[in-house]
Amino acid sequence: MKTLRDLGDVDGKRVLVRVDFNVPLGDGAVADDTRIRAALPTIEELRRRGARLVLVSHLGRPKDREPELSMGPVSERLAELTEAQVTLAPAVIGDEVLALAEDLTPGNILLLENVRYEPGEPKNDPALADALAELADVYVNDAFGAAHRAHASVVGPTRFLPAAAGRVMAREVEVLDGLLHRAKHPFVAVLGGSKVSDKLGVIEALLDRVDTLLIGGGMCFTFLAARGHTIGDSLFEESMVDTCRRLLKSGHDLRIPSDLTVLSPGGAFGAGVAPTGETRQVGPNVPDGWIGLDIGPGTAAEFADVISEARTVLWNGPMGVFEDPRFAAGTRTIAEAIAATKAFTVVGGGDSAAAVADFGVADRIDHVSTGGGASLEYLECGDLPGLSALRESAQA
Ligand code: ADP
Ligand code: MG
Repeated sequence: MKTLRDLGDVDGKRVLVRVDFNVPLGDGAVADDTRIRAALPTIEELRRRGARLVLVSHLGRPKDREPELSMGPVSERLAELTEAQVTLAPAVIGDEVLALAEDLTPGNILLLENVRYEPGEPKNDPALADALAELADVYVNDAFGAAHRAHASVVGPTRFLPAAAGRVMAREVEVLDGLLHRAKHPFVAVLGGSKVSDKLGVIEALLDRVDTLLIGGGMCFTFLAARGHTIGDSLFEESMVDTCRRLLKSGHDLRIPSDLTVLSPGGAFGAGVAPTGETRQVGPNVPDGWIGLDIGPGTAAEFADVISEARTVLWNGPMGVFEDPRFAAGTRTIAEAIAATKAFTVVGGGDSAAAVADFGVADRIDHVSTGGGASLEYLECGDLPGLSALRESAQA
């Protein structure tokens, strides 16, 4: 896969960069600019090399062209983060946009409107890809978080323009590919989050590669049920029980919780809710009507021990409903164990990344992936549509 280095001279050239500026908004402003800041190394390198930049991203899932999902707030934040002059285009494509792109001076930025304002984007419409390619001489894809979608702005311009991966993309692929093919052992994966069905592909892909797989979060209850434990009203996916039973019997070192933190029947839980109900620690059997919402302290300590012996650790998915302080302890213990180990550590998944940020340990993790769905799909399949498009790009 080509990277920025392989692009050669871009001085004075227009470079279309697919970025991932799909940021959370609040009160008409960018609420968390992590993704914008992540793209700065690529943007700044191309500016230093004299490129004229056309940036394109999606934002949310607009059904129509709702103004609440305009790139306006992103454009304002981007202007604050770079010395460049940032112009927000009035649309994604069209004559007016083309004229703005042609007028760009070196080092300056034209940010296109939300690419999902175009119905051709999710359909991978070649006409949209062609119109985007018209705006530039070179295409760079730095939107790792969107690389699992075969959308027009992600895979299309590579058919028309010389193409390369930006710095975010190149680093993500280097790390995740390293996990799949060059991990140092013991290699420990910690998986949690809400659903087994969301993560089954990753579990299956990882089982043959890791030495130990630690399972917590909502998904552990289907495993506990498969082993014959009672799970009360905890999250449960009946259709996955047979699969979980098969995985438990596969002979791999797959560990599920031996204790849990549970909430009494009718208790309210979650981010920002008024906490009601009683919490209790139980062996892995959950009493009738109670809900398991975190791994227990014994399990957290056991998992932390396994992590401390590892040379490679991959973590995806919180161990409990960490948004509620009563059920955050398991996730915090794991986050701190991962921060403390000398192993090479990778965290993937939107909520897991939020958890390590919340607990203040993000800078002690070797790599926090910017793409939730994309990193899982890469681990599962070893490739993504956006990456294969870059590799197969006709030119460059
Ligand atoms: P990621 O975004 O890191 O991939 P997921 O989206 O799979 O993680 O899961 C995150 C969500 O899982 C969190 O909102 C958390 O509250 C929820 N969760 C964790 N443990 C449980 C549980 N025991 N019961 C219900 N939900 C849970
Ligand atoms: Mg999530």
